[in-house]
Amino acid sequence: METFNIEKEIRDLESFPDEKYLKIIREVGFVCDRCGKCCTSEFNDHIFLLDDDAQRIIDNQGREYLRPAPHFDLCDNLGRFYVMGYALKTKPNGDCIFYTGSSCEHYENRPRICKIYPYMLHREPDEDGNIDFRQIGGLDEHGLYHNEIGEEACKEILKTVKEYESGFLRQQLGFIEEIEKYFKDNNLRINKQMYDRMMRLYQKGKAIEVYVFYKGGFEKEVITPVQIS
Ligand code: SF4
Repeated sequence: METFNIEKEIRDLESFPDEKYLKIIREVGFVCDRCGKCCTSEFNDHIFLLDDDAQRIIDNQGREYLRPAPHFDLCDNLGRFYVMGYALKTKPNGDCIFYTGSSCEHYENRPRICKIYPYMLHREPDEDGNIDFRQIGGLDEHGLYHNEIGEEACKEILKTVKEYESGFLRQQLGFIEEIEKYFKDNNLRINKQMYDRMMRLYQKGKAIEVYVFYKGGFEKEVITPVQIS
């Protein structure tokens, strides 16, 4: 795994011109009308939690609202999965566990990814595979657009987006560094065939162990498909 690219992305993110991003925020003029669409699996795959989000949810609502973020990063030769953080649990229909069907049960205390959505500032490919910084997700698919956003509010959005995106990358970097150390200390190897085999068993209902990177170390979770559906 390559830490250099992540370090470079952090530098590029931090030096992304503020004025360019402020212009985008002003032009998009997004206002959340609490339609709740972004809280459903129809729009978003999962709600990833930075460590401080996960800690806040554990303190306020309880650990039972968390699950290992899906799409585990890797598997070791003993069949244990590893992932870079927690996500919010979902309901059987895929909606966020805090979504009531019309609003967020903990709107004021929602995770940071929910606060910044649909703003983003990370590199990803477009439909033609061209990789560049993307700034807005789900444009014109929900909420209200072309509103006038005050200058201070624009600056606050910019600050929060940069904080979230760099927090995400730093968590990813910490995960990779800890994986290298943990695997070396415990004489483990990354095993792709084992990943596929264990995933097939998991999909048939077998419980699996997932080591979640949290606050610099790994938390062991044992999950079955029922628990994360
Ligand atoms: S935490 Fe709240 S705002 Fe975030 S996805 Fe869940 S219901 Fe929506």
